[in-house]
Amino acid sequence: MFGAVVVGMGTAGCVRIRDMLAPQPGSPAEKLTARGVISRRSLDTQEVSQISVEEAVSRDDIHVAFICTENMLHEDNIRTFLQAGKHVCVEYPMTMNYNAAVELWDFAQEKGLILHEEHIELLTEDFKGLKREVEGKILQEGTLHFTGGPLKPGFGFEAFSGIARLTWLVELFGELSVTAATLEEDSGKNYSKMTAKLLTSDNRPLTWIEERGPGRPRAKNINFRFDSCTLTQIPPAPRGAVGLFMQDMIHFAAKLVGQVSPEELQREKIRILHCLKLADKIQQLCQC
Ligand code: NAD
Repeated sequence: MFGAVVVGMGTAGCVRIRDMLAPQPGSPAEKLTARGVISRRSLDTQEVSQISVEEAVSRDDIHVAFICTENMLHEDNIRTFLQAGKHVCVEYPMTMNYNAAVELWDFAQEKGLILHEEHIELLTEDFKGLKREVEGKILQEGTLHFTGGPLKPGFGFEAFSGIARLTWLVELFGELSVTAATLEEDSGKNYSKMTAKLLTSDNRPLTWIEERGPGRPRAKNINFRFDSCTLTQIPPAPRGAVGLFMQDMIHFAAKLVGQVSPEELQREKIRILHCLKLADKIQQLCQC
């Protein structure tokens, strides 16, 4: 069994504990057992006790940490737990810059530890349906426009907080490059709009927009023009039977027990680092 702690008891952290207490029967997630929660607040936890970081890193029956804090705190938390010889599952984005992610990944590999970045957006039925629709078609140009409410404090620059959308584009259209990026902001109105111009390896243009402001519905609007047709809607799909965080936990646990091939691990690492590198470049272009 792998004893685990959850760091950061917000929405994601609470789901992690819930899933660990009731894992999918017959799945590798059954190998995880919740041994503690870590929070800056004093929590009234009943089933799993609240412990300190110091206790978590020093206990031999704790092998794994789930990092579910605000994005800006991910990097330091990952480093702390890797240093202590614990495997890490971190909610996306892993870090707020590319170099830190490379360093942490190298460090995990040196120590023979699993470093896993959650990407539930790839596990949604919406994404799977969209991927099926896109397969075999030749892209001419496209746009992915995300809208949502204002970002909470500590969630960082839009290209990182929105890495799930960038990951969709990379999974759908392959490796990308960034040609331009801008950020419009009206801090008085809590409004921001990031626009990134991307190119596929076939030089097809893609535009990624992250637009946030009060009252904006959380939505992804697409317009993908192919040689044969134009897709303007994500094909509607019913929810899957297994929750998204549970699916991710199963995948992470499969890595812990050695059920994921080195090739697949490598593919995931390349994709994650590629997306973080693009996010880094977008941020630089927006800030110059
Ligand atoms: P959240 O705002 O619910 O929690 C973030 C942090 O704030 C946590 O550390 C939590 O302990 C703390 N927090 C929450 N409420 C608090 C309060 N009342 N007082 C003091 N601290 C409080 O954010 P989240 O949605 O859980 O996101 C955590 C991480 O998970 C982020 O990296 C995010 O990108 C990632 N993530 C979340 C989702 C999701 O559906 N929520 C999906 C994918 C990835």
